[in-house]
Amino acid sequence: MKQFQVEVEEGTVCIVRKNALAKRVSITINARSGASATVPWWISKKKAISFVKQNKQWILDKLAKAREMKAESLLQLGDHDDYLLHKENARKFVLQKLEYYNQFYDFPFQRVAIRDQRTRWGSCSGKRNLNFNYRIIHLPIEHADYLIVHELCHLKQMNHSSDFWELVSRAIPEYRKISRELRKM
Ligand SMILES: [Zn+2]
Repeated sequence: MKQFQVEVEEGTVCIVRKNALAKRVSITINARSGASATVPWWISKKKAISFVKQNKQWILDKLAKAREMKAESLLQLGDHDDYLLHKENARKFVLQKLEYYNQFYDFPFQRVAIRDQRTRWGSCSGKRNLNFNYRIIHLPIEHADYLIVHELCHLKQMNHSSDFWELVSRAIPEYRKISRELRKM
């Protein structure tokens, strides 16, 4: 999704835009242009829609007021403490999953870091350290599993060769569909 509309009420829409730099979800009300929401890149379309719906009354009230006063209102909700709030849970989750999938792969690794990254879900370094974006815990479980297995397999294959994908497919046969969905988010 890049941009789409959510119907707030009959005749009133909120335009939702994805922004790679946005840290949190926000809704702006403008007397002329109406309601628009900005969402960070990692928020799913479904979550963005439910965010707008949850704030329906706020949007309608502020729209009425903005039109009366010709003013602008800004609602910022969300997640600047999201990382701190979820980091330790994300670490526990990632370690459990790594342990689970490594029963099968058995690839040794060094450290696991949980980071607040803007553009990547995970990485694997030449020193055999694994990094994961804490937002992995906000993903559907099959997407999270795929990311764990993807980085785990880089311990054996530091590339995206057919050998690498063959390795991934042993644990995640539907990896193609899942990676496509992740790229579209
Ligand atoms: Zn990769």
